[in-house]
This record gives sequence, structure tokens and C-alpha cells, in this order.
Amino acid sequence: MIETDVLIAGFGPTGATLAALLGQAGVETLVIERDREVYRQPRAAHFDHEIMRVWQKLGVAEKVLPSTRAMHEYEFRNAAGDILLRFDQRGISAPSGWAPSYMFHQPALEEALRRRITDFACVDVRLGVALTSIEKNDASGVEATFTDHDGRKHRVRARFLIGADGGGSVVRRQIDGELFDYGFDEPWLVIDTVVKDEDGLPPFGVQVCDPKRPTTVMPMSPLRRRWEFMLKPDEDAQVMLDDARIAALLKPWVRESQAELVRKAVYRFHGLVAKTWRRDSVLLAGDAAHQMPPFMGQGMCSGIRDADNLAWKLTAVLRGEAGQALLDTYQEEREPHVRTIIETAIHMGRVVCVQDEAAAAQRDAGMIAARPAKGERSSDPLPGLPALAAGCIMKSARAGELFPQAMTAEHAGRRGRLDDLLGEGFWLVTRNGAQPGAWPAAVRHVELGRDVVDETGRLDQWLDATGAPAVLVRPDRYVFGSGSPADLHRAFVAKVKSAT
Ligand SMILES: Cc1cc2nc3c(=O)[nH]c(=O)nc-3n(C[C@H](O)[C@H](O)[C@H](O)COP(=O)(O)OP(=O)(O)OC[C@H]3O[C@@H](n4cnc5c(N)ncnc54)[C@H](O)[C@@H]3O)c2cc1C
Repeated sequence: MIETDVLIAGFGPTGATLAALLGQAGVETLVIERDREVYRQPRAAHFDHEIMRVWQKLGVAEKVLPSTRAMHEYEFRNAAGDILLRFDQRGISAPSGWAPSYMFHQPALEEALRRRITDFACVDVRLGVALTSIEKNDASGVEATFTDHDGRKHRVRARFLIGADGGGSVVRRQIDGELFDYGFDEPWLVIDTVVKDEDGLPPFGVQVCDPKRPTTVMPMSPLRRRWEFMLKPDEDAQVMLDDARIAALLKPWVRESQAELVRKAVYRFHGLVAKTWRRDSVLLAGDAAHQMPPFMGQGMCSGIRDADNLAWKLTAVLRGEAGQALLDTYQEEREPHVRTIIETAIHMGRVVCVQDEAAAAQRDAGMIAARPAKGERSSDPLPGLPALAAGCIMKSARAGELFPQAMTAEHAGRRGRLDDLLGEGFWLVTRNGAQPGAWPAAVRHVELGRDVVDETGRLDQWLDATGAPAVLVRPDRYVFGSGSPADLHRAFVAKVKSAT
């Protein structure tokens, strides 16, 4: 019997991020992955600033950056090219300090994450083996079986099992399996190309809301381009995957010699949420817990947020710094967050996926009429992501928001980004001489202006808006609460320390 603290089924972006975060915290982790290689079909193309902050925490941001490009604009146009919706993030200062949005190449990112994980001796990764059953699951832990490529079975005993095994999750089926279905279900052909040059191609993401062929055009990493074409009800997926058909679809967009087809797949875009994310010592994360259409570019991002949320809670429970009840706050925090995103993505999808000419004309007229007051080029930022409304937070000003990162700060004679300077764990940030009181070692206290000098002024501005002398920041950089250190301490003890 293999023994470990955390068993992760699935080494996609969610499982890999969780393994890296647990590895960084020194938690004994076993990852089992059915495939031998990183998934090669076209999938995620976008992630946001919060996710880049996670790559920063893992020390891979600089490795990931060369295969990304910051993207600031995103348009919805009708068949005639009129703008229906326009999002513009230029000039927006995202809380994490990074650009609001990045386009990227998912295999390059996953490979960077996997390389990073080899630095952690406490993380054991086994490829080409699949979790097949869970024999025992109670408050004390799990026993599960995985099967290798020769059909040999291996038993594992773990304190926790995380099902990060994607949309068809075996783990989800073993603990309950029920999914809430938003009733959105649309087939799309997804094409990835490498282009010789980007002449004539839109410099940002465009949704072409043409009822004859709803189409998405996206830049990815430099010289990589994505096209997505909605299939008509009478079109067969296999037939549409034919290279000649694809060439015909790409013809209006690129010269034949300009783009080389590198990946193609047909997906059904849908919105699903697992009803149960935790059963005793088994938890679900990423696509195993939720799936969404890609119109917000947030499916993988949501899995990374799950991993970041879970990693510090599992670590705290395993170290005896928190009781198991802390793990109940995982679904409480993550499900409403992910549902808001799914609902927005489906709303966008319903704008794009209209195939009836009359309905499209009506949509266009309504959306164009709603725009003129702002002018043709006017635009809004992308819909903001919600703050945490409940869970491991103290109800107070700006609780549940992401704490801002100063990208140039000074601490202990070093200059750099705030998160790099202060490192992992909780931070109690005080100012104006507020007395912190006594805190466990897992909470790091800094006085703003004395221990940390923020050259950007961002943190002071943020604290000014709370009117509070102190803020307690969680290890995933969400704000636990703002207020007096004594109030924060009381709430911290109740929510984290004595969670049973
Ligand atoms: C066309 C398209 C575009 C998208 N665009 C975006 C985007 O721009 N931005 C974004 O954030 N998201 C996007 N997404 C979503 C994103 O790709 C997924 O949400 C993300 O890949 C899910 O990651 P995951 O690790 O949770 O699951 P997966 O990537 O599915 O990984 C699960 C892993 O588990 C393994 N596995 C399965 N069963 C077992 C088992 N029994 N035992 C062991 N291992 C097992 C699988 O082999 C797989 O490697 C897009 C998706 C699609 C289809």
C-alpha cells in the first residue's frame, strides 16, 4: 500500500497547479495521470492577471511570459462588421499588478508547470496510470486503486484525494456525480494554426456574430492563432474536421501560405456544475467540478483558482493549523464565484450563437441601439469577477476581494514585487502604529510604511478605502477582512484556527 498525504487524480492544469502549490508547501503528494503526455488538442487560450499571480507564486511567471501576449481588447461584431459589444482593458490596473488578460499556448504552460514540479522532492508524479476506484472514504482519509498500463493495480492510502480528473471525472462519479446543467449545449469546431505573419488578422479577440456561421477569432501566443466555428444542426463533426473543409472556412481570414493548421477538435460548449464538491476526504477541482463555454476564457482560470483555494486549506489542515471544517468553505467560496462566471459566459454565448437570421437582426438592432450614446469606439472593461461573499472571511469592508499587489515595493533591504517580498502564508498588514497583538507563526505581520514601503501607493489607497487600521490577507491573496487587529484575530481564531 502506497501512503501519501494528498492523492491528486489528473495532471491537467488544475492538478498540476495544486501539486506545485502543495510541493512548495512541503506536503507529501502523489499525482496520478492517465495520459503520458500533456493534452495536445486545442483548449485554453486566455488567462487573467490573478492566474499570472499564481504563476508568480510558483516561480514560473517569467518562464510563462515569453509564450503569452497581453490582450486588452475583445469585440463582438455582427455579420456586417458593426460593433455590438466592445471591451477595452487598456489603462486598467488589475489588482494583481499584472496585465488584466493574457493569451497563451496551453501545452507550453503545462510543460512549464510540470518542469517546476520536478523541483519538489515531496511530489511524486506517475504518468500513464488511471484512478479506477475508491474503496474507502471517511473523515480519517481515503483508500483508492489506480491501474497502470500493464493492467497492474496499486492501492493508495491518502489523507485527502482530489479529483482533478477533468469533465468525465471518475472521482466525481464515485462520490455523487450529480451535475447541475445550465442547458447550454452548442457544438463548435476549434482550429489552431501557426501563422507566418499576422498581416490582415485582427490584433485582438473578435466574436463574429454572423448567423450563417458564428465564428471566434483569437490571437494566442505570438504567431499562434485560434479560430472557432459554430457547427450547424445538420453538420457532422467528423466531416467538418476534414482539412479541406477547414481550409474553406479559413479562406476568408488568411492566405493559404500564411497559416499552418496544427490542431483541430470539435467540442460541445456547455455549462455544468457538480452539486457536491466535497465528500469526507474527497474533493473535486477544475473541470471535474465545473465546465463552462469559453466565451469568457475562464474555464482553466477557475480550476487554477480552485487549486489556489484548496492548497492553503489542505496544508493548514495537514499541519494541524486548522480543523477540517475549513475545507467546507472551499465549495462555499468557489461555487458562487464559478457560477457567476458560467452565467456571464452563457449570456455571451447566447449573443454569439444565434443562427436564425431574423433573431440575429433583432439582436443587432437592440445592441447597436444601446451603443450610440457612447460612440462607435467606446467600450467597457470585461465584466469583473466577483469577490468572495461567504466562507473563510470576516464580514468587513472589502473582505473577499483580491488584495492588490504593489509591483515595486521595498522590504528588508530588498526591492521587488510585494508577493515575492512577503512570501507565502497569511499577512497581517497594519498601519499608523496599530498594535498587532499576538498571532500564530503562520501569520506574518508587517507595518505599512515601516516594514514595507509601497512605491506605487496602491496599498495605502486600498486601505484608505476601508477606513481600517489593518487587513488580514489569506495565502491565496484574497482579503480575509479589514478592521482592528483584535477583531481580525477573533475572527481568524473562529474561522481558521478552531474550525473543527
Ligand atoms: C475550445 C476550448 C477553449 C477554451 N478556452 C479557455 C480559455 O481561453 N481560458 C480558460 O481559462 N479555459 C479555457 N478552456 C477550458 C480549459 O481548457 C479547461 O477548463 C481546463 O483545461 C481544465 O483543466 P483541468 O485540469 O481541470 O482538466 P483537464 O485539463 O481535462 O485535465 C484532467 C486530466 O485528468 C486526467 N484523467 C482523467 N481521468 C483520469 C483518471 N481516472 N485517473 C487519472 N487521470 C485521469 C486526464 O488525462 C487529464 O490530463 C477552453 C476549453 C475549450 C474546450
